[in-house]
Amino acid sequence: MRYLVTGGAGYVGSHLVAEIRDRGGEVVVVDNFVTGHRDAVLPGVRLVEGDVGDAATLQAALAFGPFEAVFHFAARSLVGESMRDPMLYFRENVGKGAILIDSCVRGGVRKFVFSSTAALFGVPGEGPIGETAPIAPVSVYGESKAMIERMLAWAGRVHGLRVACLRYFNAAGADAAGRLGEDHRPETHLIPLAIDAALGRRPPLEVFGTDFPTPDGTCIRDYIHVADLADAHLRVLTRLDAGSVAYNLGTGRGHSVLEVLRAVEAVGGRAVPHCLAGRRAGDPANLVASSARIAAETGWAPRRAALEAIVASAWAWRVAHPDGFAA
Ligand code: UDP
Repeated sequence: MRYLVTGGAGYVGSHLVAEIRDRGGEVVVVDNFVTGHRDAVLPGVRLVEGDVGDAATLQAALAFGPFEAVFHFAARSLVGESMRDPMLYFRENVGKGAILIDSCVRGGVRKFVFSSTAALFGVPGEGPIGETAPIAPVSVYGESKAMIERMLAWAGRVHGLRVACLRYFNAAGADAAGRLGEDHRPETHLIPLAIDAALGRRPPLEVFGTDFPTPDGTCIRDYIHVADLADAHLRVLTRLDAGSVAYNLGTGRGHSVLEVLRAVEAVGGRAVPHCLAGRRAGDPANLVASSARIAAETGWAPRRAALEAIVASAWAWRVAHPDGFAA
């Protein structure tokens, strides 16, 4: 089986590529290395360096097909940046997304798996968030992903493209074999920041908000291991034979910021220096997925759901790669 992966040098994309390789599949990666890392492209993976908004790059990549499916990860993904420069996100994510979808349809691609986000749901109501929750993003980033989901729905209706939209909650953790891990620049995510604070490689972590309506006052999120996300991507392919789908992907269990800090301390055996700070704009109190639908329809279940296991894999990668991938 051969697959095309856009953004295959990025965090979640590279872990999917590793999973495909480990299962004996072939991969062609398209990446422009704006946020991806060259060292995250594993040996044996064919690389087409370029942009998903560039038709010639896509033509070159699609020429290595036919592909069983296209997995689309390449995107800008910083909420704060999207609110400072909205048109960047519409151009990069939506405009280039349209070019990619068009090239795929013309190139005879039948299955398309899209890297979507819990940010679609904005500030949702109480309880685990299922697929019927209203799509009401409160950031341009979330809006850009919602718009791509809509474009894909039309590509399905008009061209018969089979689409899986996978809304990730908080992707975390690292490759069990130690080949890959999280390396965003700048890093904004809680677990890698807490690990670096514990390792003394960053100033104390700021806990953003202690007055949320949660048991300890800090925000609750659903952290899901990247390898479990990768597994979900491959499981939905069979399900696509029966039609397009959208799934929310999490463990169904939330953890507060303070619980994450305690998990990092337990795993690392040292304190996480931190201070209590004000809320970060746009943070909902509680985001936990209901993944009942993908479980029922594909048999998927997170196998590394325990927070300490997720943190332990992230810790191991960071200790082995304190500066991340080579610059
Ligand atoms: N967070 C924090 N301090 C930080 C980074 C994040 O308290 O330095 C909190 C953030 O407010 C949120 C949770 O940790 O409640 C997870 O944030 P992250 O940016 O990792 O993911 P998000 O949920 O925003 O996608």
